[in-house]
Amino acid sequence: LTVVKVGGAVVEDDAQLSQLLRDFSAIEGRKVLVHGGGRRATQTAARLGIESKMIDGRRITDRDMLEVVTMVYGGLVNKNIVARLQASGINAIGLTGADMNIIRSRKRPLKDGIDFGFVGDVEKADGKALMRLIETDVTPVVAPLTHDGQGCILNTNADTMASETAKALAAFYDVTLIYSFEKPGVMADPDDNDSLIPVITRESFAKLKADGTVSGGMLPKIENALAAVEAGVSRVIITKATAIDGRHGTLIV
Ligand code: ADP
Repeated sequence: LTVVKVGGAVVEDDAQLSQLLRDFSAIEGRKVLVHGGGRRATQTAARLGIESKMIDGRRITDRDMLEVVTMVYGGLVNKNIVARLQASGINAIGLTGADMNIIRSRKRPLKDGIDFGFVGDVEKADGKALMRLIETDVTPVVAPLTHDGQGCILNTNADTMASETAKALAAFYDVTLIYSFEKPGVMADPDDNDSLIPVITRESFAKLKADGTVSGGMLPKIENALAAVEAGVSRVIITKATAIDGRHGTLIV
């Protein structure tokens, strides 16, 4: 089984998204797609007169922003991807973590005095429910929203959603997890497209982090990738959205 996570910049770019969905459709066997959509949420919020507040690249999700991300991730982005997959013959079904209780989370407590608002830290992913669905020959398309079991939707990092989904499915399948985004993989020099780092281990990650080679959104992405490997996901790759065949990019071991 292959889990593909589609990064925010790719969701925004119609040409890149089209190619990614074509390549995703061509992947043999069972598969799951997990998407982000932060940039689209920022645009929609702006049109509604709601300001996006970020701290270190992480969104503060107040009550108004929770409504926006629920609409944008769970509706606009998710259903457009589902419709486009249907057009290429993939019987997709759009889900949030609340659907079938697939991913339950807990509202993040204050961190260093910062209140991130309605943001969920994953507590439990139900691989069995997903597996049963997948075995009916449908392809889940998962939006980065979870629920707390008490009726509240929570905004959840899409890289974490992908990692938790892959980990939960690893109990039933041989799982490959592919993080796709706009660069060829993890780069030694982010401005040099020929500087791909072919393999990252927990040890080498510590060095790349300490010397500043890896920063920003790539830090939690690699953390999530390593967590997936450590929890039994067979192969984890960070690669370009136009190269999701499992033979390119940075292998996380
Ligand atoms: P996503 O597109 O999946 O939402 P993020 O924006 O969270 O991903 O993280 C990817 C970003 O990480 C890249 O756009 C890039 O700016 C940044 N980054 C930092 N260090 C590196 C690196 N060494 N190699 C590649 N990207 C890096």
